[in-house]
Amino acid sequence: MQAITHLAIGALIQRIIEAQNYPPYLSVFIIICLAFLSHIFLDAIANITYHPPTPRKTTFWYSYHLFVLVSSVLFVIIFIQYWLGMLFANLPDIIDWLILRNYYWIKRKNRRFDISFIHKKVIDSVAKKCFWWLPDLREKEWSAINELLIIAILILMLIVPLKV
Ligand SMILES: [Zn+2]
Repeated sequence: MQAITHLAIGALIQRIIEAQNYPPYLSVFIIICLAFLSHIFLDAIANITYHPPTPRKTTFWYSYHLFVLVSSVLFVIIFIQYWLGMLFANLPDIIDWLILRNYYWIKRKNRRFDISFIHKKVIDSVAKKCFWWLPDLREKEWSAINELLIIAILILMLIVPLKV
């Protein structure tokens, strides 16, 4: 899934856990674990969202990813108090796409897009074992709506008061 989706679920997890009044060290531990696991879950169901395996040279691909980039940066600025949840909810992407893939590209001088460890070894097996029944909509532009809906629900849950 896109960065903003992981940011939103990480922030929401931190908000909910912090509201439980656990001892601070326990709170931090639960936030880290749940945020990391949330990445695996979201990516395992990513087949239902617009996600071509390699970049497309279409206006839609560029505009969608520009939108994701800008909204992700804005999200981090607005919800910076939830940095711990946001950081760990994005850690698998930071490890695989930012560190491993760039290291491979620089070292081998070969821009392969399927270089990953957590995504290939963990997330792909969870997706195959638990979510094989989901339709594969990764190439369909309209399936971006599915992700935008998930983001909207998460942000709504993030801004509504916890206790009425
Ligand atoms: Zn990911």
